[in-house]
Amino acid sequence: MPKLTSEKKRKSGATPVKIMDTTLRDAHQSLLATRLRTEDMLPIAAKIDKVGYAAIEMWGGATFDTSIRYLREDPWERLRKLKKVMPKTPFQMLLRGQNLVGYRHYADDVVERFVDRAISNGIDILRIFDALNDLRNLKMAFKATLKYGGKVEGSFCYTLSRFHNNNLFVELAKRLEDMGSDAICIKDMAGLLSPYAAFDLVSKLKEAVSVPIHLHSHDTSAMAVSTYLKAIEAGVDIIDTAISSMASGTSHPPVETIVNILKGSRYDPGMDMALLTKIADYFKEVRKKYKEFESDYTGVDPRVLVYQIPGGMTSNLALQLSEQQALDRMTEVLEEVPRVRKDLGFPPLVTPSSQIVGTQATLNVLTGERYKVITTETKNYLKGLYGKPSGPINKEIQKKGVGGEERVTCRPADLIEPELEQSRLRLRKENKSAAKSVEDLLTYTMFPKVALDFFEKRDNADKRVAEVAEKGGVPADETSRESPPLIAPSEFTVKVHGETFQVKVGGMGHPGEGGRPYFIYIDGQLEEVLVESQLEVVQSEEGRIDSRVGGRSTRPKVADEGDVTTPMPGSVVAIKVRVGNKVKAGQVVLVIEAMKMQSEVHTPVSGVVKAIYVKEGDRVNPDEVLVRVG
Ligand code: MN
Repeated sequence: MPKLTSEKKRKSGATPVKIMDTTLRDAHQSLLATRLRTEDMLPIAAKIDKVGYAAIEMWGGATFDTSIRYLREDPWERLRKLKKVMPKTPFQMLLRGQNLVGYRHYADDVVERFVDRAISNGIDILRIFDALNDLRNLKMAFKATLKYGGKVEGSFCYTLSRFHNNNLFVELAKRLEDMGSDAICIKDMAGLLSPYAAFDLVSKLKEAVSVPIHLHSHDTSAMAVSTYLKAIEAGVDIIDTAISSMASGTSHPPVETIVNILKGSRYDPGMDMALLTKIADYFKEVRKKYKEFESDYTGVDPRVLVYQIPGGMTSNLALQLSEQQALDRMTEVLEEVPRVRKDLGFPPLVTPSSQIVGTQATLNVLTGERYKVITTETKNYLKGLYGKPSGPINKEIQKKGVGGEERVTCRPADLIEPELEQSRLRLRKENKSAAKSVEDLLTYTMFPKVALDFFEKRDNADKRVAEVAEKGGVPADETSRESPPLIAPSEFTVKVHGETFQVKVGGMGHPGEGGRPYFIYIDGQLEEVLVESQLEVVQSEEGRIDSRVGGRSTRPKVADEGDVTTPMPGSVVAIKVRVGNKVKAGQVVLVIEAMKMQSEVHTPVSGVVKAIYVKEGDRVNPDEVLVRVG
């Protein structure tokens, strides 16, 4: 059959649906805790570029944070590398409005510069949303995107409550169009949109706005394929899919399924199945490498319709609870989530509101008293610092969290002074070379602690590569004259606080002060580790070697009422007291970060600070004494 030109297609009534591929962003964020590495994207990139996708979503969302925090990869570098090998298809990213790719509101100058650099490094389309659907939080990102020549996909988060209905969504879409959107996205991040609701919503949107409608849904409850089909019948312009081997469950519907369903119809996107099969085969193999990160919650889960919790959030909650050895309380936490959501005015559950609600719900369950501990983020939310949700906030909880402090009613970012210059000065003190790059400065501004650590590791890795090259070998060779290695298997996995690292021992050095240096590749990166104590090596059932480096916590166990501990496992962000300080019951002594949220830790009794067992950055657990008051 001869190919139809677009003119002929139009006359023949063909309206092929456009497809965006999410494999390089949301699919692995939903299935593999966002761990897919650039090195596993590059070999297949050219093929993906050939498919004829309307766009490829490959950046933003959680990929930025995960890259620097866990993968030790520069997210900016990923963007540039992929752009080089994928010149044809537009690149799309997910941007959390004023939160960018972080978890708090940044100043307007940070938003403008970030959008500018994202576009210059290769992003074509920015899907911009706000977790509360507060459109004031999108203003700056829209303005910057339009200024720097990007396309804006204005989004609203789809959620269900008595304050959310299709009339509200149509109203939001109209305002998004007025603000300059080139397309409107229905962001159904939890997969709540049912087929007939989609038909109704898309029909209404098509009547109300003239820009293309883009539907983003997840297959968590296995409705998404039908939902897409009804949306297509109602005239949706673009849908989000993933390659089959990275699709379904908490991810998106498989592109091949959609292509097969639509084959021969007026909506036929006309994609090359043989090419798609090659890509699917590739990811089938790649996915095996990330087995450790597969969520336990990737199957069909209709409970999502009850709890409205996105897949990524469920696995986060599970991880948090298992660290606490409280996985058996998962159902209680899942049931507490909708109650907290109601108290907070029914925010859609998406980053960062999903973390705020999820952590607060976890605390409410684990502490045995609702809102006994209120995280800093919950407090800021109650204050209005994230904007305005669609429903009313529970007044009592608000009073408990905010007290007499003034509430914010303006656009929250109006209260934030420009940040970039101050940030640059701080970074210059910490890492001169990073301060020279605008991209590094932005990374640092959004994730100060993680970024410094990342820069340092990056600098060291560069140095080490140079050193090794100079010596003409790997550091392991140097030590081969030493006694044989203590550890027989040279490759194993290490689990630290739920994170799994692939470790390969390259060799060891001469024992010296502070221990014996080991040259170890952690997730492919060469590191030098000083091992002071014994290495505990345990053979697991599957024959894999799990190993923990010795050196356990030496903090005393909680025994006394003046022993201050943490309500949940996390790391110490700030210490607010010194030994000898007089403190009153209820006073803040520490700030802990857990699940990317901060909580204040209070002393339960009045007295004098007798001892502090932690320093900033320490990982801590609930049974340990962090500060002793007596
Ligand atoms: Mn999503």
